[in-house]
Amino acid sequence: MRIIFRFIVVVFCCAYLPFTQAQWHDFTSTAMTTTLDLEFWFDDKIKAKELSQRVFGEFDRIEAVMTRYGDTSELSMINRLAGEQTLPVSADLFKVLQSSLKVSVLSAGAFDMTFASVGYLYDFRQRQAPTNLEIEQQMKAVDFRHVQLDAEKQTIRFTHPNVKIDLGGIAKGYAVDQGIQILKQAGVLYARLSAGGDMRLLGDKKGKPWIVGIKDPRAKLNKNKQVVALPLSDVSISTSGDYERFFIDDHGERIHHIIAPKTGRPVAGIQSVSVIGPDTMKTDGLSTAIFVLGVEKGLAMVNRLTGIDVIIIDAQRQLHFSEGLMPPAPL
Ligand code: ADP
Ligand code: MG
Repeated sequence: MRIIFRFIVVVFCCAYLPFTQAQWHDFTSTAMTTTLDLEFWFDDKIKAKELSQRVFGEFDRIEAVMTRYGDTSELSMINRLAGEQTLPVSADLFKVLQSSLKVSVLSAGAFDMTFASVGYLYDFRQRQAPTNLEIEQQMKAVDFRHVQLDAEKQTIRFTHPNVKIDLGGIAKGYAVDQGIQILKQAGVLYARLSAGGDMRLLGDKKGKPWIVGIKDPRAKLNKNKQVVALPLSDVSISTSGDYERFFIDDHGERIHHIIAPKTGRPVAGIQSVSVIGPDTMKTDGLSTAIFVLGVEKGLAMVNRLTGIDVIIIDAQRQLHFSEGLMPPAPL
């Protein structure tokens, strides 16, 4: 009897285990005009799928609030009305707006969500850039100090009528952080979640570091060619580049999506910036900021901050590392 019982237990376990044992799960989706990639260690397939849908759903929810496209998002409404009146802001959006202003102060205005007052005149798909006159006319509206947030009342008001804001440089990072939060709450210990160039790693890859590659910004044949591979765990990494959204104009100039708030034009001098730090909203905002600041000022800012590192590939394809990533001096 005992033998039969043991036999039944063994058969039952063999049949059932493959469905319940934890394993790696991979999912992909699209949101915020980019690809979402999610990999995590979890038990059964069905629960993992449900969890991935909750994570991707969070991206859709945040996108619906913060997108500049269409008239229905809260951000679009603010762009239409905050020049004339004070408006209430939802909790998520308020957090991202506050963080934007923090990065603006930290980077002396290199990161500036009001770049959009000029930035919205560019259309990369249609290969359109504003004329000098058009830029000049809008430049007065580019200044993050035009955005007045009231933390107590959770409201916003623009102090110049032509201000437009855009959160393309930071909202994806926030969504990645929110996605990781959902995974953590479900008990996930090991995960990798990325939205285009913004990635967060939860834990390591079960005993080994995750290997994260930095793309060659000028790779031609193999678009995924990498120049650096970094072993990382439990951090965020965000890359800003001049190669994702751009066109080459009639003068041979690369017109891309990172705009210097001082000039209203795309920034030259850098091909890509990858920032490593504790959360993705921070690394996303900072990568855009450093792109605008340039190599010298960008490195100086990072070296003043704790817990943040950067790898810059300049226009000559030279690599620059912040102090935290430098090899130790030879003995
Ligand atoms: P990606 O959107 O490819 O992840 P980034 O994080 O570098 O790349 O963000 C670039 C986006 O940031 C642009 O598409 C635009 O929406 C926004 N942006 C461009 N210039 C600035 C700037 N000076 N300050 C803040 N945001 C900016
Ligand atoms: Mg960014």
